[in-house]
Amino acid sequence: MKLPFAENSTNQNERYVGRFAPSPSGPLHLGSLVAALGSYLRARQMSGKWLLRIENIDPPREQKGADTLIKRTLEQHGLCWDDKVIYQHDSHQYYEQALSALFNHGHSYYCQCTRKQRLANPKGQPCPCSELTLASQGSATVLRNTVGIREMTDIALGAIVFNSEMNDDFILRRKDGLYAYQLAVVVDDIHSGITEVVRGADILPATAFQLALYRLFKLPAPVYMHLPLVLGENGQKLSKQNHAPALINERAASNLCSALGILGLNVPLGMTNATVEEILCWAQSNWNEALIGNKANAFDNRIDAPDSI
Ligand code: GLU
Repeated sequence: MKLPFAENSTNQNERYVGRFAPSPSGPLHLGSLVAALGSYLRARQMSGKWLLRIENIDPPREQKGADTLIKRTLEQHGLCWDDKVIYQHDSHQYYEQALSALFNHGHSYYCQCTRKQRLANPKGQPCPCSELTLASQGSATVLRNTVGIREMTDIALGAIVFNSEMNDDFILRRKDGLYAYQLAVVVDDIHSGITEVVRGADILPATAFQLALYRLFKLPAPVYMHLPLVLGENGQKLSKQNHAPALINERAASNLCSALGILGLNVPLGMTNATVEEILCWAQSNWNEALIGNKANAFDNRIDAPDSI
């Protein structure tokens, strides 16, 4: 299967390209800073590029002005990206090309089930719509997950075994016409020539779906590293949906120290008055993924179905 946009975007010289891909559904919180910092440090240590992609495929969940706040917060924390900021709203043509390629090769079908009907469909059984020829209008586009990725290796977490639900079919474009995260993230990462994805462990389960798409596109998948999540007082992961407190830019240096602690690197007491630049420079020489291993007990290596992202 040929993806027209993959031709020019393949990373010819295999230079490291990483990215941070926040959704503009609110300001950054400590959990997002961990993902931003981890991916930034990896890219700088590899003398690679670090791209910023604003994942605005879901306008109803977008918060007006959040992209500007996110960019300002990253800058205040010394996390300056390379190249132009990428917005997913500029990539619709590539999502369409990918959808057509998958459909023309019989890898997807149109489904008119409601969410309730889809959930009621017995696990592991194909949806009855997959046998029908339904109109695309008013339907969701669903991938026939014939690939069924069962395991992967994560740089930080080691061998990962996916739950069988990760082998189910999954939505590529919703009934309301919005592109699904699984499709958009893979298309964008291919288009930008991303060689390594460093992000929060909440997305680890969804990686099975993403790897299935790479397999169907016959393109090499990036290497993955999933970082520890930050839990709030209620034991739930910090997220914009849980109204996690926004980072205070005036406390950037201390925020970076907290994020480094979560990445397994404790900043020495002698650096309590260090500037943002000094902390980043020190972290670049002292942080590595093996330090995350100490936190591996924060994860269960058998991975269940993801929440919607
Ligand atoms: N947009 C996702 C988020 O804000 C991250 C997606 C990714 O890094 O693949 O949680």
